[in-house]
Amino acid sequence: MNRPSQPTTAPGEPSAPATEPMVVARNVHKRFGRLEVLRGINLEVDRGEVVCIVGPSGSGKSTLLRCFNHLERINSGQLWANGHLMGYQRRRGKLFELRDSQVARQRQSIGMVFQNFNLFPHKSVLGNVTEAPVQVKRESRAAARQRALELLDRVGLADKARSYPGQLSGGQQQRVAIARALAMRPELMLFDEPTSSLDPELVGEVLDVMKGLAADGMTMVVVTHELGFAREVADSVVFMDEGVVVESGPPHEVLNHPGEERTRAFLSKVL
Ligand code: ADP
Ligand code: MG
Repeated sequence: MNRPSQPTTAPGEPSAPATEPMVVARNVHKRFGRLEVLRGINLEVDRGEVVCIVGPSGSGKSTLLRCFNHLERINSGQLWANGHLMGYQRRRGKLFELRDSQVARQRQSIGMVFQNFNLFPHKSVLGNVTEAPVQVKRESRAAARQRALELLDRVGLADKARSYPGQLSGGQQQRVAIARALAMRPELMLFDEPTSSLDPELVGEVLDVMKGLAADGMTMVVVTHELGFAREVADSVVFMDEGVVVESGPPHEVLNHPGEERTRAFLSKVL
């Protein structure tokens, strides 16, 4: 059963947007059983843009990021990332649903950083950063190692290449996780509450690395409660609640002059 499935009508008319932003979500729905977690998400992220997503726990922020990266399959709507209609392939003018192994290729240009680092505990820092380029992209070990050392230098951990995750602080582990994601040369980076499990004194070092990435022009979608970071770095802030985008816009508008009562209620709790 290696053939792609029959052409599908599920995603509707798959006309890619003219300007081709990095991410486009159109009326995206996602259910877990009977629980509808995403209820018609519309969102665009331009290339080079930093978008921060804020919102209460359970509002679907992580699920949305996981859909961007195709860790979750959407139930309806359309989702493009880096020019790909996620989960589908166009051949001879028709759309075919991709199998998971083929989806993996679409995901290669998307890096993801999780709240709990998710490093391989039994591999050294260097091993963590070189694993995917060698195993997935078939880069030579020497090239992957060279690049890993450059990236570790960039996140301020050149001297930790031989350490193991358990020997590092949370902030250091998260910086390794960022280097590991960058090793795949992503064009889009997704961050899911990257500083939420860190002791307060370690948050800054991770945010500084992220600021550097943003300054270098990386397209980033960041789920975060760090409103200071959002104010300083984000081009756009998206407030989500109960599976919908309640409002979005420049940080000073959404965070200082929210138009919606739900946004005001949320901000009054986190500030
Ligand atoms: P947030 O990141 O905003 O806190 P999530 O996207 O993690 O929200 O979760 C949104 C809702 O979806 C929650 O009610 C959560 O319990 C539910 N959920 C998330 N993942 C799953 C899953 N794999 N199976 C069932 N329910 C899930
Ligand atoms: Mg979450």
